[in-house]
Amino acid sequence: MLEKVLACPNLPTLPTVAVDLLKLTRDPEVDLADIGRLVEKDVALSGKILRTVNSSYYGLSQPCPTINRALAYLGLNTVKSLVLGFSLVDLSRQCKDGFDLINYWRRGLFSAAAARRIAQVTDSCDPDETFLAALMQDIGMLAMHTALGKQYQQVVAQAGGDHAQLPRHETVCLGFSHPEAGARLGERWRLPKNLVNPIRLHHRSAAAAGDPMVATVVLGFQISNLVTSSQPQSALQIVDRIAKNVFDLNAGERRALIFSTLEDARELCGLLEVEVGEFPDAAAILAEADDALIKHQFDVRREAEQLRQTRDALARQALTDDLTGIGNRKKFDSELGARFDQAKTWKGCLGLIIADADKFKMLNDTFGHQAGDEVLREIARRLAQTTGNEGIVCRYGGEEFAVILPGATRTDAARIAERLRKAIEGQPFRLTDAAAESVPVTASFGVAALEPAVSMTLPRRQLLIQLADNSLYAAKRAGRNCVRVFNPKVTAA
Ligand code: GH3
Ligand code: MG
Ligand code: MG
Repeated sequence: MLEKVLACPNLPTLPTVAVDLLKLTRDPEVDLADIGRLVEKDVALSGKILRTVNSSYYGLSQPCPTINRALAYLGLNTVKSLVLGFSLVDLSRQCKDGFDLINYWRRGLFSAAAARRIAQVTDSCDPDETFLAALMQDIGMLAMHTALGKQYQQVVAQAGGDHAQLPRHETVCLGFSHPEAGARLGERWRLPKNLVNPIRLHHRSAAAAGDPMVATVVLGFQISNLVTSSQPQSALQIVDRIAKNVFDLNAGERRALIFSTLEDARELCGLLEVEVGEFPDAAAILAEADDALIKHQFDVRREAEQLRQTRDALARQALTDDLTGIGNRKKFDSELGARFDQAKTWKGCLGLIIADADKFKMLNDTFGHQAGDEVLREIARRLAQTTGNEGIVCRYGGEEFAVILPGATRTDAARIAERLRKAIEGQPFRLTDAAAESVPVTASFGVAALEPAVSMTLPRRQLLIQLADNSLYAAKRAGRNCVRVFNPKVTAA
């Protein structure tokens, strides 16, 4: 089918001046004066080129009266691009009945305006050559329309005005797509390879990473999509990705690019004398792009926040005792380590209470393990509530709890321990599921403290734990349900 299209006798052809120019420029030794003479032979074309190079689009500091001067000021590439650009406009006019020329030029013109700006801003490739490549990206459609007529119109209609989807429909219905047909037509016209490549790859945003000119044309096409589409969201994402990843453009530069594309397109539209339909509202598009950017930044921030929350929750979970919801042994170790070092460094106090439920084995045996669990939860709740923000309550193990009291002296810690003991003994423990109305629960408490006066005798925190533990056993030996405090003077004596 593609061969049939390319063999079609009335395929669009380049005007003689363009063909001759391409032939001349293939010669590396070409004389610029020959080029000038060739272009000037076509009076209408020369007029258009001079009007263009003297427009504010090119912004020359002095007027340029002749093609030779244009060649000297702007170089061969610019003049060649303009000759081919204008030729393309003429040639497209041959496509009449049923061909949507307005949208064809809408895409071509906005893409070309964007591509030229990208090339200028990023210095990625020659701006005028890139401009031409973008302008020519859809020449395959001209060939397919001419050769296949109605059949092609139906395929285009199937894509429903979404040009991004067109190559897929073309391939399904015809076995090839307009980028391929365009590239083959360009090869026939003996266009330079660097022009043919972007024509072939202009729909493949994934190809953008390889060749800078392809990347520029692809991004130009996506910007044209963005500014001309009624639903710019998906184009905006692609524009963002390529602009950032391939060209390293920031949000401000990308915004400026969209803005200048809209400005340039308006001027180009007059210079090339093509109709492109209604002009997009620059303010609305930029507002939309900004909104999307803000939304994107918002999404990024929200994701980071969610991630942080998940991480914090996991960290909290790792330090929480499943049964009682208070800190676990790991939390105790890390808190005690930090507070101990702090007290040592600042010559402060640190109280430690270790509490152990009395005769808990018996409680389990009498009321069941479930009831035991419930009692442990209630003990934890009372200890935490009574301690308040004076300390950190953790489950030390089985039915043992520890209370770290930063800043507390031995006397402070003893007083708090007595309060905790009363909090356990004072109120009955009511169980949800027990035969008895309430369960008798008491606990024994061992207290030790790090104070500046005895700091030397307590070099390590393990020793503080050991002293509190010794006191706890003293409380057990004394008959349980009481507080015992480690007294360094007595020990020394
Ligand atoms: P003492 O007054 O000397 O501390 O006597 P005790 O029975 O409390 O001491 P012992 O260390 O002999 O027994 C502790 C009991 O605590 C045994 C164990 O089954 C129970 N226990 C430990 N962890 C849990 C738990 O998570 N849930 C329940 N229900 N019981 C537990
Ligand atoms: Mg016990
Ligand atoms: Mg025990």
